[in-house]
Amino acid sequence: MSGNDAYDYIIVGAGSAGCVLANKLSESGRHSVLLIEAGGSDANPLVTMPRGMARVARDPATTWQYQTEPEPATAGQPNSWVRGRMLGGSSSVNGMVYNRGTPADYDDLERAGCHGWNWNSLLPYFRAMENHELGEHPMRGSGGPLPISLHRLKAPLHASVFEAASEMGVPAVEDINTTNLTEAIGYVPRNIYKGQRWSSARAFLRPALKRANLTVVTSVQVGAIAIENGRAAGVRVKGSSDVGYRARREVIVAAGGIESPKLLQLSGIGPAAMLQSFGIPVIHDNPQVGRNLLEHRCVTMTWTVRKGFSDNPAFKGWRLVRNVAEYYLTGTGVMTSAYADMIAYVRAAGGDDGRPDAQLLFLPFSVKKGRLPVQVDDEPAISCTAFILRPDSRGEMALRSANPADPPRLMPNFLATEHDRLVAVGIVRYVRKLFQLAPLARNIVAARDFGPDLDSDEDILGAWGREGHTGSHLIGGCAMGPGRDAVLDLSLRVNGVAALRVVDASVLPIMVSGNTNAPVMAIAGKAADLILQSNE
Ligand SMILES: Cc1cc2nc3c(=O)[nH]c(=O)nc-3n(C[C@H](O)[C@H](O)[C@H](O)COP(=O)(O)OP(=O)(O)OC[C@H]3O[C@@H](n4cnc5c(N)ncnc54)[C@H](O)[C@@H]3O)c2cc1C
Repeated sequence: MSGNDAYDYIIVGAGSAGCVLANKLSESGRHSVLLIEAGGSDANPLVTMPRGMARVARDPATTWQYQTEPEPATAGQPNSWVRGRMLGGSSSVNGMVYNRGTPADYDDLERAGCHGWNWNSLLPYFRAMENHELGEHPMRGSGGPLPISLHRLKAPLHASVFEAASEMGVPAVEDINTTNLTEAIGYVPRNIYKGQRWSSARAFLRPALKRANLTVVTSVQVGAIAIENGRAAGVRVKGSSDVGYRARREVIVAAGGIESPKLLQLSGIGPAAMLQSFGIPVIHDNPQVGRNLLEHRCVTMTWTVRKGFSDNPAFKGWRLVRNVAEYYLTGTGVMTSAYADMIAYVRAAGGDDGRPDAQLLFLPFSVKKGRLPVQVDDEPAISCTAFILRPDSRGEMALRSANPADPPRLMPNFLATEHDRLVAVGIVRYVRKLFQLAPLARNIVAARDFGPDLDSDEDILGAWGREGHTGSHLIGGCAMGPGRDAVLDLSLRVNGVAALRVVDASVLPIMVSGNTNAPVMAIAGKAADLILQSNE
């Protein structure tokens, strides 16, 4: 590495967004592209094996590890957050659930002033990247680089959940992503192909690696953007004050929902008073950097069940050894499943907008609380993870120091709004009711937590605080918006600094009704077009 290393585009972070950008910006062969990743390679059998998630998503060698600041909504406890730190970023450790949110979410974005980001503008990007096993449909794609398959390994839980959901008026659908129904349930669509995780690195980066104009460096953490005369000139590597790599056209920060706002702040773009308190020269005072955070708060409810109704035994002792062996010998079996088997959108609190307000994920297993590495329960049990789909409690983050090695202070401010508390309580009552219906109840021995003893709204919210966990979907820290006070303009350019963009989860100003991997990749697809058009 030397100060003479210059590229047309420098992308910081090889995660869900970064890999899409690296592919599309290098596609024509006309531009030199440098992709810099803080973590290492993704060549790890536990990354490829879907159920390996239980290990890689907790391993300090493959993840960034954070602790949130204690707050009332987390019962005064810090919560543990992780993000992927290797090629593929969080898409190499995530639950592989592929969902996109609903058209109404993106139309909300447009209404919030984010012109050009409505559903009709983004659908072509979703469709172009998708290779859905169900084939072509006006609402989904086939033939793209990203495989999507539906959960297929049958478990006794499934029929009971479908039946109970139907009694609640929730229809079963083949593809949860193509429905505009208010409520629906189906098998989980997953980024899994032939039994293997298909991360963003696998889908977008690997096919581009042979291009002579794409350079990828790993195990290099960018410590700051080098800004010269109001323009991003390149990047400084952590621990060095030199401009390690220079950008002729643009620097694109794709370091994810937590590290991107942190990197902007370390580079002098953020709330002036905070930056000055750490001795960071202010390049552009913008209090919005690191504000407006939105995250999915989840609960996982667990029931002990009769023998044969839970997959827990499959993940213990000799059966686990046999199942891992089956996986490596044949690529089949229980180790090929994503985080959850089934997914539902429901109206748990039933507000008057007619839209679903909660996502439910059904798991044929359960894990011991607070145990690392993750271990399944000794007794047969099943669980349901649920989250508030479109939370509006906004949190913030701030630097802990001027040292890029220090994790930021994360203050999610969960359950701060009436809406979020209403839906949180609605979720527990709804899921409890669902599991009390005969198709499920006849298999259940006892509710293990969130049981009937939690009666009042206050008690239920207290349990959300003690037992709740993160959805790992943080957005908003570098939100785009129509005004100059937003962190980014509508082409994802950083306001106040030339030749600098952010493209990742942090750019979304409002939460989509689902998980965030697919939206981030589609946003990156559109951003790449915007970047290429503006540099023609
Ligand atoms: C455990 C977990 C489970 C999840 N489950 C699902 C799911 O089932 N379905 C779903 O849709 N979504 C899921 N998500 C969320 C989804 O994966 C993320 O929203 C998405 O991957 C975010 O993409 P990104 O590009 O913004 O960031 P990331 O994919 O996190 O990429 C950021 C990359 O930048 C690198 N980086 C950061 N800072 C620097 C720096 N200074 N210098 C160089 N490199 C840097 C990081 O190491 C990382 O590789 C999950 C996330 C996690 C963590």
